[in-house]
Amino acid sequence: MRGFIIGRFQPFHNGHLNVIKKISKEVDELIIGIGSAQKSHTLDNPFTAGERIMMITKTLKNFDFQYYVIPINDIEFNAIWVSYVEALTPPFDVVYSGNSLVRELFEERGYMVKKPEMFNRKEYSGTEIRRRMLNGEEWEPLVPKEVAEVIKEIRGVERLIRLSEKDY
Ligand code: NAD
Repeated sequence: MRGFIIGRFQPFHNGHLNVIKKISKEVDELIIGIGSAQKSHTLDNPFTAGERIMMITKTLKNFDFQYYVIPINDIEFNAIWVSYVEALTPPFDVVYSGNSLVRELFEERGYMVKKPEMFNRKEYSGTEIRRRMLNGEEWEPLVPKEVAEVIKEIRGVERLIRLSEKDY
């Protein structure tokens, strides 16, 4: 059985890792879609698809599990989004998502959709991690160490701070 999960992973954090570890016990292979792949360099989506792929592949490097990471741009056409995803990915049997729109679109097309259990959602949240980065608070414990290393390599926190600067 092959599973599919999609996320923006801005950045990939310990909640995402816990969910993927759990799903890996239920399926033979997992497709990890990098959602909103075209977005980067904004306060909500600071990291490029390539940077997010680095975060995920470095974190999962010692993971004995078959997975595929596939960047997926957004399209302004929710009604055909599932067909669009299918055209970009290997076939899959089950979808994992806590996102209500993702769940709705796949359920309407007849997919089995499972809602993963949330892990420490207050802290393991991209919004919270980006907030801490901007405020100079400790964010590293909320992400796998490989992700912290990637963010340091690309000077991601400095990027986020520059993006938050006002014009005046
Ligand atoms: P996300 O990074 O917030 O979350 C990814 C997954 O991880 C979700 O299923 C979420 O429930 C889970 N998760 C997050 N924190 C967790 C935690 N602490 N513990 C356990 N699980 C946790 O990404 P998202 O918003 O779900 O991504 C959906 C993507 O699909 C977006 O990029 C969106 O634009 C895209 N999309 C696009 C279209 C379109 O183009 N028309 C339509 C639907 C969705």
